[in-house]
Amino acid sequence: MDLNHFYKKNYGDRLALLKAQLGLNEADLEVIANGRTEKGNQIIENYLTDFPVPEGVAVNFLINGKEKIVPMVTEEPSVIAAASHGAKMTLAGGGIQARTTDHLMMGQVLMANVEDADELSTQLNQNEAAILKVANDAHPSIVKRGGGAKKLRIRKLAHQFVSLDIFIDTKEAMGANMINTMLEAVATYLHIKLHQTSLMAVLSNLSDECLATATCQIPVASLATKKLSGEDVADRIVIASLAAQVDPYRAATHNKGIMNGVDAVVMATGNDWRSMESGAHAYAVKDGQYRGLSDWKVSDGKLIGTLTLPMPVGFVGGSININSSAQLAHKFLQITSVKELETVIVSVGLAQNLAALNALVSEGIQRGHMHLQAKSLLLSVGATDTELPNAQLQLEKCPVMDANTAKQVLKTLRN
Ligand code: NDP
Repeated sequence: MDLNHFYKKNYGDRLALLKAQLGLNEADLEVIANGRTEKGNQIIENYLTDFPVPEGVAVNFLINGKEKIVPMVTEEPSVIAAASHGAKMTLAGGGIQARTTDHLMMGQVLMANVEDADELSTQLNQNEAAILKVANDAHPSIVKRGGGAKKLRIRKLAHQFVSLDIFIDTKEAMGANMINTMLEAVATYLHIKLHQTSLMAVLSNLSDECLATATCQIPVASLATKKLSGEDVADRIVIASLAAQVDPYRAATHNKGIMNGVDAVVMATGNDWRSMESGAHAYAVKDGQYRGLSDWKVSDGKLIGTLTLPMPVGFVGGSININSSAQLAHKFLQITSVKELETVIVSVGLAQNLAALNALVSEGIQRGHMHLQAKSLLLSVGATDTELPNAQLQLEKCPVMDANTAKQVLKTLRN
């Protein structure tokens, strides 16, 4: 397969090459052509087409007293419904309160094979002001905006590593690129000034000084279901969250549920969800054991939920500025700053977690999930909008819910 210098080929040549090599047919080429946008080519390399992931809005969010309509991008059925449901549950307690720390991201100049870590630490401490200046001189525009390198931390690690951590206020941007530029300037300075070489100089995705916290306080009585009292539901949610504190297997799924909502907003706003994911999971293991990211307790007749997450996201930067869907997401959210965005993301994570725990400890998650799963299956086998309601009812009654059964249900209805 001659794919040499694929990146240098024009769009038509790329398609022709793939068509010849892979035996693509006209329908395949149409899928590629239908998704093609001008901007895609500016954002990634070897561009072919945009991959469609559905976007919807979650409702019922009241965050710091303001109603929010939250855009979410996800391929998973029931995520948006659950977020909206979780948000609705918080309304009985006045919605969600959310706050943020400074947008202080961290980057590290990592030095290996350090013979005398104490001596190096002393030298780095003595040069603190100069190091901060070198970092800031490498990206002066962020300093003009009131941001820039603010402080250092030195960590002596196992196997003779020393990490020089630099905390940088990146203002409205996630800041990966500006941080990396600043760190590389510092690495060069250390080489020249202290004759200290470094292994690498790069952003850390564990941005634990750039955090957002959401809390809700829901009157226990409002949680009552037909079968369970509000006290019972609240107690079961508290115990379920405790399980995620003691069992990493449960914690992984607990946190996946939180990230269902978080990632969907991160994607809708054009942000880097891998960065968000790695930050969240690293934060979940901050005391040495992987734990659930949220905490639920009952106090004074209220179910109190708290979620804190690292927030390596931006309101500008990366591809956000040229992504019209991300710009539209800002309009949906009626936000003008990264801090407001952080409050929304963490609040969606909390609501998503509440909805999942509530479903798990009361009716189980499958009932709601399978309803939407039935819809997806029927659509995938060609059900029309008019056929859907009846077909969904029939499919949900079947002992097995898969594509074949969905086809059978449709066939029976059409006869
Ligand atoms: P950019 O490189 O686009 O930098 C953001 C730019 O926005 C700044 O350089 C600044 O330019 C400009 N800007 C305008 N207004 C403001 C403001 N009010 N506050 C701050 N900046 C402002 O993006 P980032 O540095 O944010 O990097 C994010 C990208 O990096 C993402 O695409 C991410 O996927 C990627 N990335 C992630 C990594 C990781 O997670 N480990 C590693 C490497 C890249 P100026 O000051 O010059 O006007």
